[in-house]
Amino acid sequence: MTDEKKRRPFIRRAAFSAFWTLTVLAALAGGGWWLVGLPNSPLPDHWNPRKDLVVTAPVTPVTKLQLMRAVADEATCRAVLDQAGVAFSHLDDLVVNENCGIAGRGRLTGLTSAGIEPVETRCATALRLTLWEHHVVQPAARELLGTEVSELLQIGSYNCRKIRGSTDAWSSHATADGIDITGMRLADGRRLTLLADWQGDGPEAAFLRQIWKGSCTWFRLVLGPDYNRLHADHFHMQNTGWGFCR
Ligand SMILES: [Zn+2]
Repeated sequence: MTDEKKRRPFIRRAAFSAFWTLTVLAALAGGGWWLVGLPNSPLPDHWNPRKDLVVTAPVTPVTKLQLMRAVADEATCRAVLDQAGVAFSHLDDLVVNENCGIAGRGRLTGLTSAGIEPVETRCATALRLTLWEHHVVQPAARELLGTEVSELLQIGSYNCRKIRGSTDAWSSHATADGIDITGMRLADGRRLTLLADWQGDGPEAAFLRQIWKGSCTWFRLVLGPDYNRLHADHFHMQNTGWGFCR
């Protein structure tokens, strides 16, 4: 037998197994899509990419996909906030010029359980803040401070201005895609601020550092006191960006 003839059964076997591998993968993909598309899909909603985000549902690998859809669509975003009991009242869009304005505008006065000093912002920013409050801030307060956060302190979201410093670029505040958080009021009466409590090795500093770290999961860009002196007194949290957290 020549070498050529000996190789043929091997090639046939390889082609055969490739065929079946592809068939099985296609069946799995089709079955998966069928499973998520069923009106009464047995998949829990927080595992189903075709279902809307529920703020208080457990976090799964699908949650980020649901969040991306919610921040991209104003009606979905508002429905998700309503479902979570967030106080975000409707305001007409603010149209100023090509650099400044607020799409999906509202007045935010309360999150899932904490309040917030009233602030005008866009729905996407309010939604990311809500997820951070529920999944990061409250658990960290219970774990490290033995209490809950009753109010977030903030110094604004919308501001038609360029980025402070040397650049000529417009700030995310010009479209209310950013929000600046300066501290928290706690249910036991304490009041923490980044300016007074960021440094040190007590539980207050540990709490602030933990919620800063956790904010990177829910926002696209976060700048805090360790970034530069302009942020010594607040977290700048942004709905846009590429994951920079400092
Ligand atoms: Zn800011």
